[in-house]
Amino acid sequence: GNGLMAGKRGLILGVANNRSIAWGIAKACAAQGAELALTYQGDALKKRVEPLAEELGAIVAGHCDVTDLESVDAVFETLRQKWGRLDFLVHAVAFSDKDELTGRYVETSRENFLRSMDISVYSLTAVAKRAEPLMTEGGSIVTLTYYGAEKVMPHYNVMGVAKAALEASVRYLAVDLGSNNIRVNAISAGPIKTLAASGIGDFRYILRWNEYNSPLKRVVTIDEVGDSALYLLSNLSRGVTGEVLHVDSGYHVVGMKAVDAPDI
Ligand code: NAD
Repeated sequence: GNGLMAGKRGLILGVANNRSIAWGIAKACAAQGAELALTYQGDALKKRVEPLAEELGAIVAGHCDVTDLESVDAVFETLRQKWGRLDFLVHAVAFSDKDELTGRYVETSRENFLRSMDISVYSLTAVAKRAEPLMTEGGSIVTLTYYGAEKVMPHYNVMGVAKAALEASVRYLAVDLGSNNIRVNAISAGPIKTLAASGIGDFRYILRWNEYNSPLKRVVTIDEVGDSALYLLSNLSRGVTGEVLHVDSGYHVVGMKAVDAPDI
């Protein structure tokens, strides 16, 4: 086939619906000739993911809940049997109890701290470990992070701490897997209205604030994140690993944000 991703096979974790960032990435990869496998978290999402997979001619590699490592093993076993090899992996998975994505970080419960770190951080390492033996011709792994890893953002709380650990994991994994020509990078996406984001307090305000203060004067779309992911997942970025690429309309470079934005 033709395209930047022709002949490449990739697993994409984190499609919940057609607003998911993972869906934006899946569409961009499929348009460039990639063969894809998607998973779903539980039966509730199965009926959403199946028609989306069909739209792209993707395999559905089954149920995958990263807190249940047997389900993760089963997905990789399915891919080993069906494909025998994997070229890329997208990790677009995160979770925190909604009740703790508001108010003060200091109130975070131990239970939600551990759960958030397990689902949003450890899972990247768990899937990288399982992908490595299948990436026999090298590979590219991309995860999704947010500026709340670098700077304190209102309401982001434990997710900010988790994203900081995720970005550090990207660097450690890049070193571990680099000698097998497997690259590991992150995209730091600007705020996008998705299912996960709807749990964050005052999210509409955050969107408007970003729109007003970013150099491009707008927020980014899942298709824009998808196109940037294409760079990191394809051979175009073959010299890049351990990197955090900001796809945020440039928001992170602005030092002095406006105090008063119109209409917010
Ligand atoms: P989303 O709700 O569409 O996707 C989140 C996904 O995580 C879902 O598919 C869900 O099934 C999956 N997930 C949660 N817990 C899981 C578990 N235990 N096992 C397996 N999967 C699980 O939302 P999204 O915004 O597309 O989120 C994707 C990634 O992008 C997340 O890492 C998020 O933190 C990150 N991100 C989002 C934004 C934003 O503003 N939306 C900005 C920067 C980074």
